Amino acid sequence: MKRGDQAILTEIAESGLGAWDAKPFLEKVAAIAPSVIYIFNQKTQSNEYSNRGLAETLGYSSAEVQEMGATLMPRLLHPDDGMALMQYFDRVRALNDGEMLQFEYRMRHADGHWVWLLSNDTVFERDSDGSVLRHIGTATDISMQKRAEAVALAEKQAADTANEELRSFAYSISHDMKSPSNTMSLILSELRETQGAKLDADGQELIELGLQTAARMQTLIEDVLHYTRVVGDEVAKEDVDLAMLLSEILVDMQGDIKDFSAVVEVGELPIVFGSRMQLRILFSNLIANALKYHRPGVPPHVKVSDTTDATSSDLSISVEDNGIGIPDGAHEKIFTIFKRLHLQDEVPGSGLGLAICKRVMMSHGGRLNLRSKQGEGSVFTAHFPRKGTTL
Ligand code: ADP
Repeated sequence: MKRGDQAILTEIAESGLGAWDAKPFLEKVAAIAPSVIYIFNQKTQSNEYSNRGLAETLGYSSAEVQEMGATLMPRLLHPDDGMALMQYFDRVRALNDGEMLQFEYRMRHADGHWVWLLSNDTVFERDSDGSVLRHIGTATDISMQKRAEAVALAEKQAADTANEELRSFAYSISHDMKSPSNTMSLILSELRETQGAKLDADGQELIELGLQTAARMQTLIEDVLHYTRVVGDEVAKEDVDLAMLLSEILVDMQGDIKDFSAVVEVGELPIVFGSRMQLRILFSNLIANALKYHRPGVPPHVKVSDTTDATSSDLSISVEDNGIGIPDGAHEKIFTIFKRLHLQDEVPGSGLGLAICKRVMMSHGGRLNLRSKQGEGSVFTAHFPRKGTTL
């Protein structure tokens, strides 16, 4: 920090101080200042002057401080701060006149506890060879602020740990449930295949119901697994060619596209800096919804396109459909975990898809917007910060 000496002199002159004798003024300031004020000799490495603030802050009498003399710093400084203080003094010795430096460190109070201090130092006097002989500084007790910072950090670490435990718990449960639910599906399919003919209509309906329930369970497990992959840890990012990614996604979704007699158009798409795995989840979910929530009797028509506004710093990719649309009042709620606008019997789903998409965009430093009117289709737009501006 640099503050011109001229500016300080002007300030003093304007305040009228110039008309007074500076010595008693400074003595009074040193006596009443709530901070510690000191002059430190760099040659002898000792405090040559300190106001009563030092004694008060550290719980010693002025006489005890006097008596400690040059041994004060080595005796009271926290051992872990010794090295940093030496390096700080090197920087103080390199200061130009009028410049200021700051340093945080701990000193032992007379009752044994550690006091956090913040020092502001500037050159006070130089030797005939120009090297810094003395520096003057103030030290402020910042223990309360440090304690608050430590509490906030501990709370954040505890919350991160709890979130991580929850995430890995959800991951391992859903991962372990995947295999038995797949097996259950296979058994029911086998039962329908081999024994279906022997069952009456009620028996066959029960098997169908079992198969639908198993399919629902598989979707939920898959979505929870996806969710655990988009929360928590920072994911590795790379340049992802969206055109290539979309063509891979459409190959995987060919069955659904055919079943819905849908048309999916993909325009020219840019390269986005992101997580390939998460972007795959994002666009798969948006396209799956665009197919699922189609108007009765109207085949889905989905357009994936680059809708970047040339004046914006974002890259925008939209997924537009001609489906049932979303009522105004539900635009926010559908991004919440497990919030659905449909009954399971009408359109199956877990209610996790859009919550996952929103997390994906958060972890890319971007956002997911929705434009939609009930009955008039929907446009979901993913806004990505351009590479280099990514968080
Ligand atoms: P899911 O599809 O599993 O229910 P989502 O989180 O993907 O869960 O979506 C939440 C709700 O938002 C859906 O239940 C549906 O009501 C609505 N929704 C999502 N996408 C669309 C869309 N393209 N068109 C109309 N409604 C949609």
